[in-house]
Amino acid sequence: MFLENNLSSSRLGGCIEVVTGSMFSGKTEELIRRLRRAEIAKLNVGIYKPKIDNRYSDNDVVSHDSKIVSAIPVRSAKEIIDLAKDNKVVGIDEAQFFEDDLIDVCNYLANQGKRVIVAALDMDFSGKPFGPLPGLMSIAEYVTKVHAICMRCGHLANYSHRLSDTQKLVMLGEKDIYEPLCRSCFSKAIDDKNKDLELFNNQKT
Ligand code: ZN
Repeated sequence: MFLENNLSSSRLGGCIEVVTGSMFSGKTEELIRRLRRAEIAKLNVGIYKPKIDNRYSDNDVVSHDSKIVSAIPVRSAKEIIDLAKDNKVVGIDEAQFFEDDLIDVCNYLANQGKRVIVAALDMDFSGKPFGPLPGLMSIAEYVTKVHAICMRCGHLANYSHRLSDTQKLVMLGEKDIYEPLCRSCFSKAIDDKNKDLELFNNQKT
């Protein structure tokens, strides 16, 4: 578990933490846990998320177990700079949907002495690094990888396998669209999909 007693090491007090993993790995729960503790410490806490994600509601960070904390939806990462002026702790949820300028924004906020906590998917449905995450993980003082449980074998899962065939990068959804898989089950699922596709193409010709 991430322990905050490591945090006083910086003279400025600012730092960047990334909480990342697949879908159903508890990223948002971990973000909320850290933000709640900052609130208990009477620190000014702000929570932001990209406007793209309105699965449940426009103003809340909603974790899959339905603990709710208010979040401000923003269209771009730069908007956070003004909004977070009075925050000592800045939470950013679903950060994979921001552009690469989120990296500069997080650096700017941390250099202002703020504690920045980012929760995001590390990989997209095809297993490729997602959006600004590689850069964010590079500049962060602390990176926490959380894991889901593989739906097929019960080992730790770090891939979000999409059950439908669409190739769209952004597809929001729940358990009926994605399943968390471990490395070997994910690579087998991709192989099987490619075999099916080959069979389908051969039948057409
Ligand atoms: Zn597995």
